[in-house]
Amino acid sequence: MKVLRLHDTAEGRLVDVEPREPGRFSMYVCGPTVYDVPHIGHARMALVFDVLRRYLEWSGLDVTFVSNITDIEDKIIARANERRIPFEELTTTYEKAWYDAMDQMGVRRPDADPHATAYVEKMVDFIGGLIDRGHAYETSDGVYFSIETLPGYGLLARQPLESLRAGASERLEQAEDKRSPFDFALWKKAKPGEPTWPSPWGPGRPGWHIECTVMSLDLLGDGFDLHGGGQDLAFPHHENERAQALGGGHEFARHWVHNGWVEVEGKKMSKSLGNFTDLTDLLEQADARAYRLLILQSHYRSPLEVTGDTIERAERSLASLDAFARRTSDLPRADADVTVLERFVEAMDNDLQTPEATALLFDTTTRANAALDAGDVDTAATLAAAAKEIAGAMGLELRATAGEVDAATAALVRQRDEARAAKDFAAADRIRERLVASGWVVEDTASGTKVRRP
Ligand SMILES: [Zn+2]
Repeated sequence: MKVLRLHDTAEGRLVDVEPREPGRFSMYVCGPTVYDVPHIGHARMALVFDVLRRYLEWSGLDVTFVSNITDIEDKIIARANERRIPFEELTTTYEKAWYDAMDQMGVRRPDADPHATAYVEKMVDFIGGLIDRGHAYETSDGVYFSIETLPGYGLLARQPLESLRAGASERLEQAEDKRSPFDFALWKKAKPGEPTWPSPWGPGRPGWHIECTVMSLDLLGDGFDLHGGGQDLAFPHHENERAQALGGGHEFARHWVHNGWVEVEGKKMSKSLGNFTDLTDLLEQADARAYRLLILQSHYRSPLEVTGDTIERAERSLASLDAFARRTSDLPRADADVTVLERFVEAMDNDLQTPEATALLFDTTTRANAALDAGDVDTAATLAAAAKEIAGAMGLELRATAGEVDAATAALVRQRDEARAAKDFAAADRIRERLVASGWVVEDTASGTKVRRP
């Protein structure tokens, strides 16, 4: 019987993933903090979980996918104050930038994208419950979760807390009257110049970790199937989400899945190292599908190196897939080759071995081409159907017609029309240049931007 196996961070090994309810699957993935343009590390996370979601659906499961938008947080407040604009203006701009980029990459929108600011009241209630249950305490500057009250804290860290203390001190919140250095803020009392909400502990705002706990439980219920995110979120963010849920008397995620980081020219990509690489740059310079292919060609838990060379190689591979799609577009309809599909399922069920699945895709196109060369149309048709099936299951779009407007281009056209409607002509021009660079002829018509191949 088919069983999906995934590496569960809480167990530190591969486990069988069996849904809470037969036929249905619930997953929560931490979304972006919208204070800047998305970087390619976030995009990897989004693509990895988009592939998982699509594969689960392709497998016949009814998937509910929730991914939040963090629209209130220290970095948002700092950036908005720097620019002297209301924080909502900043978050609206960057939420749009996030979804524009996701649309271009063919990352499907979540079924729900709860916003932290819309959940403050529920978070306040939840925090009150934690205090009542003896898991949280008030200090001069906020309300903190007491990790010593929760047996098993540190599960997702996968190492003793003592060894983390030295290495992670900069990631732990500093506060004078915390009982343990690992205790973390559930509620932050108001400081001047900050947006606030009312609470029993005075005006303030929620800490970051509480939003995901409250929103995931609210939308997916206790014991939802899977919680995902980048591996840098496992500790302390996910650890703390879990502590809050258990402290509140809930059953939390049944499985934890984390993707590896992105390396740019050999270094872990992060803004603090100064090698911040924004996704918009990548999407301007390359076929939006290239990054998905690159991500598929490496295992989701391995570090991924992104360089001009690896992106170019991915674009060349895409060109060969598109050529294959064109060559096989007129073949008679056929059922997909069963053996190929079985091998695909075997690879994907084995902790999402997308490198194997992608190699299988290319191998199948090679065999289909060879069958066509030999005049064996029936074999070619079943193999071509299988290739298209598995590419689709991983969200990889093959373009049979050079003139067809693909999803990424359609997204750009829409963004250009929005920019023009908002009289942001500089942005409209940048998008025009991007379309032209991808080989489109761009025309302004009464009904908006039209693109065609020359
Ligand atoms: Zn989260």
